[in-house]
Amino acid sequence: MNRYNLNENSKARKVFRILGPILLGVGAILMLFSLLSLFTFNFSTSFLGFIGIPVLFVGAVFTSLGYMGAMARYSASQTAPVAKDVTNYMVDNTSESVARMAGAVVKEVKGGSAPVKCEQCGEVAHEGAVFCDNCGKPLAKVCPKCSATNDQNARFCQKCGEPL
Ligand SMILES: [Zn+2]
Ligand SMILES: [Zn+2]
Repeated sequence: MNRYNLNENSKARKVFRILGPILLGVGAILMLFSLLSLFTFNFSTSFLGFIGIPVLFVGAVFTSLGYMGAMARYSASQTAPVAKDVTNYMVDNTSESVARMAGAVVKEVKGGSAPVKCEQCGEVAHEGAVFCDNCGKPLAKVCPKCSATNDQNARFCQKCGEPL
């Protein structure tokens, strides 16, 4: 937005701010006259109500136009810092969780490096361990044919296909 537009807007707003309340007042007076004419059965002024309604409406529109900008600015100044905080918070959290997720994916892709936990005593075995170093329970099945290390629950050797 350039300076010209800004000035034009504030000029228009000033007009709205002055005209709006005036029209609201005039409309209210016109409505009052028409109401009085209904009560006093003096219908010569009741037509004023038909003018009063649009005048009131236009006055309300002008007033809201004149003060809306100020209100919007106020609410923006009130909510902007909070919104910024929330955004930062979300971005921080998101980048952290994304990093964590990426790490998990990398671990998953690398494979095999996940530590094996002993089913019997819960001891976390060293990578490539065949027996638990705490209780001696076999952690992996060693193929009797090719002596490859297989998972504890493997039914066939992953290297040569020998039934385990
Ligand atoms: Zn164990
Ligand atoms: Zn084998």
